[in-house]
Amino acid sequence: MPQRAATGETILRGIPVSTGICVGKVLLLGLSRVQVGRQEIAEADLPRQLERLEQGLLATRQQLLEIQQQVTHAMGAKDASIFDAHLLVLDDPTLLEGVARMIADERVTAEWAFHTVAERFARTLEALPDDYLRERVADLRDVATRVVNNILDHHEAVDLAHLKEPCIVIAHDLAPSITARLDKKMVLGFGTDVGGKTSHTAIMARSLRIPAVVGLQTASQQLHTGQSVLLDGFNGLIILSPTDQTLFEYGQIERRQKSFEQRLQEIHDQPAVTLDGAQITLSANVEEASDAAEVKIAGGEGVGLFRTEFLFLNRSTLPSEEEQYQAYRQVAAELNPQPVIIRTLDLGGDKLPNTASIPQDTAEMNPFLGWRAIRYCLQESAIFRAQLRAILRASAEGNVKIMYPMISGLEELTQSNELVEQCKAELRSAGVPFDENIEIGAMIEIPSAVMIADSLAKRVKFFSIGTNDLIQYTLAVDRLNEKIAYLYDPTHPAVLKLIKLTVEAAHRHGIWVGVCGEMATDPAMVPLLLGLGVDELSTTPPLVPPIKYIIRRLKLADCRELADFALACESSAEILVRSQALVAQAAPDLFGGAH
Ligand code: PEP
Ligand code: MG
Repeated sequence: MPQRAATGETILRGIPVSTGICVGKVLLLGLSRVQVGRQEIAEADLPRQLERLEQGLLATRQQLLEIQQQVTHAMGAKDASIFDAHLLVLDDPTLLEGVARMIADERVTAEWAFHTVAERFARTLEALPDDYLRERVADLRDVATRVVNNILDHHEAVDLAHLKEPCIVIAHDLAPSITARLDKKMVLGFGTDVGGKTSHTAIMARSLRIPAVVGLQTASQQLHTGQSVLLDGFNGLIILSPTDQTLFEYGQIERRQKSFEQRLQEIHDQPAVTLDGAQITLSANVEEASDAAEVKIAGGEGVGLFRTEFLFLNRSTLPSEEEQYQAYRQVAAELNPQPVIIRTLDLGGDKLPNTASIPQDTAEMNPFLGWRAIRYCLQESAIFRAQLRAILRASAEGNVKIMYPMISGLEELTQSNELVEQCKAELRSAGVPFDENIEIGAMIEIPSAVMIADSLAKRVKFFSIGTNDLIQYTLAVDRLNEKIAYLYDPTHPAVLKLIKLTVEAAHRHGIWVGVCGEMATDPAMVPLLLGLGVDELSTTPPLVPPIKYIIRRLKLADCRELADFALACESSAEILVRSQALVAQAAPDLFGGAH
């Protein structure tokens, strides 16, 4: 529910997922309201107005059916069913009769009559003390806007890649494929009704440095295009029509943030080493080849996770081996001699291609437990082989490593390794160069992988803990679902114990272990991860400098003490408070932006 601040401002509260503050005009994805005015008509024009109404309704029905089909295709029948409610509005006899009567009785245009009658209905529903009916208000307004647009033959297509003015995007949901296409210069920030901290849309927002708030629940119904808002990505707020005082206060926070960023620049070329001399490898996560430049700017020591699936989204065909090779070699060559860990395809879950020509299952009951990542690749072996060959070829031009996602059992690892050997043999006999000693690692993101970590460790050169999924699968909490976001708990003792077991197994077998999930991006988690013995942290490029700043102000001895405390503690809240306190004490200026 929106809250009113003492100033009278309306505040919507959600989950902060990407820091920063922006002020601007809302662009509501869906439709913007058109301005219609009352216009009277001659009696002779009546039949034409009724015909315009009919045409507008027909066109709207057509559009809604098309959208419904697209959504079914991309997200499944359940999500598409919301359009049934929209279609019902078009068949509502009371509404349609009311509109026709108004055109005839008051001799007004079809658009004015539809707009007025629909708005009257909406106000009546809005006043009812029934949540279900109130929800229908948004459907009604959406459809009315669409009908009026169609009567006026006014077509509006919002292409987020080519926006003309800066805006704050508000939507019920944004798929990662859409987020990946946002025009960074024009999208000042975004807010969605649904989503959690580790949804891929949230991860994209952080890497694009766009302030973002998710889990706002009803923002897309409460806000409309053109409204002035302030989005606070530190605290997860959207403030409607902010007062001068609010703008002034936020301006000060931004200034503090800027001066802190200058301080971070000063340590750009320094290593990530603790005060007592423990060296941590600090690398960065990338989603596309062009992000390599960001890694350098941020001072990252290579790429700890290249999420290659983004090469497969927003297109109608599969990327060829050659196209993939070009992308991988670009990153490898640009960062050479720094390592680039290329994770093999992790399609599925919330990352689905928007074309049927790439195999996928849009009707899964539990996509995160389904046909995803290594499971998908081992079944679609032609796709997997093309990617492995592309990665191997790129390894001739830099320090490339391969990493498999979602390993749940030994068999998946050995089968994947066999495929790599086959691809190597093919390239060898064709005389194509590649790194014969390319290192292979496994992501540890499923509890079963932790429990067999000794077996896995014998067969790989490194582990990288995917905490986003490890938390999801350990706690049985969907990482996308804002309703249970309070249960998504990185400091849950079970999660910390699993990280500890992974580190111990890795070190027993002489291999290193990193964290590439979002825990490595959260400043408050750094002392815990260091204390648990993690050797590498891989975070989004914009977070490399602050994470390095923290590491350089911590003592490993204190971190170990914290981890020992955490492993013996029964309360995740207490662990979190202790870890936060250690960071706040070591780097008090880090929290200048948030309050
Ligand atoms: C993870 O699960 O922590 C991870 C890094 O992989 P992804 O977020 O892409 O699932
Ligand atoms: Mg994962």
